[in-house]
Amino acid sequence: MLGYRHAFHAGNFADVHKHAILVQLLLALGRKDKPFCVIDTHAGAGSYDLASAPAQKNREYEGGIGRLWTGPEPRPESGPELTAYLDLVRALNADGRLRRYPGSPRLARALLRPGDRLILVERHPADHPMLEAEFAGDRQVAVHFKDGYRAPETFMPPPERRGLVLMDPAFEIKGEFQRLLDALQRIHRRWATGMVAVWYPIGEREQSSRFHKALKTLGIPATLCTELGLLPYNNPNRLCGSGMVILNSPWQIDLALRRMLPELLERLRIGGRGQTRVDWLVEAR
Ligand code: SAM
Repeated sequence: MLGYRHAFHAGNFADVHKHAILVQLLLALGRKDKPFCVIDTHAGAGSYDLASAPAQKNREYEGGIGRLWTGPEPRPESGPELTAYLDLVRALNADGRLRRYPGSPRLARALLRPGDRLILVERHPADHPMLEAEFAGDRQVAVHFKDGYRAPETFMPPPERRGLVLMDPAFEIKGEFQRLLDALQRIHRRWATGMVAVWYPIGEREQSSRFHKALKTLGIPATLCTELGLLPYNNPNRLCGSGMVILNSPWQIDLALRRMLPELLERLRIGGRGQTRVDWLVEAR
């Protein structure tokens, strides 16, 4: 039985890091005319009511999107990358009061063009029906109840041959890093040019270093590591930082993220602490 429900964590600092990057990746895909396909292997419920009991339990969103929220208007000094993400959150909260937070499916849907497609996979028996309801009748979106780690065999390569796979598991099962690495190999074998974004939690530095080392061994071109940390990386039982690795990264995304992450840190940090990282684990060919 899966215990994790994203509704408890929606809009926290890790979501902000992950989603602000996701928006940049989708915008990069949209710069070419050819259609693209997005495959979200661990999709969650789609979007979240921040007034709901789960979201209110620890009010994690207050330390994330809550710190960036300025009402109906963007902060004039926000850079273009952060503004693009905040505009999409604002679109769900048009009256200027922060009540709903878009998950990765809602953000991806907002940036599809008429010929693009979105495939959503979710295996939680309660979140899957919510996801289905969120996109009922939407012909550009397909929702599946299955194991996200089987997505490579089922959906890849998509006929469009252009697109993005988002892998954002719950990390509630031991061995999740290894499952991700196995899946990345299978994706790359089937769809060598597909862009893949993988989220991971940072508790202590040693675990993410092992993950990075294994990613280097895979040797998938343009593998970019991005991290946003609010606490020192020395507590395996806490979410001290948020990591996102991008494989087959779009051209010059590193420059955009080097502008955006320090700005994010500035808005999210507590007491002047924190760190960001954007560097290549494997260079582009
Ligand atoms: N990607 C979502 C977002 O950004 O809005 C959040 C996803 S949440 C971190 C992880 C989700 O993976 C949970 O909804 C959980 O139910 C789901 N999940 C866990 N194991 C899964 C599996 N093997 N296949 C598909 N979904 C799974």
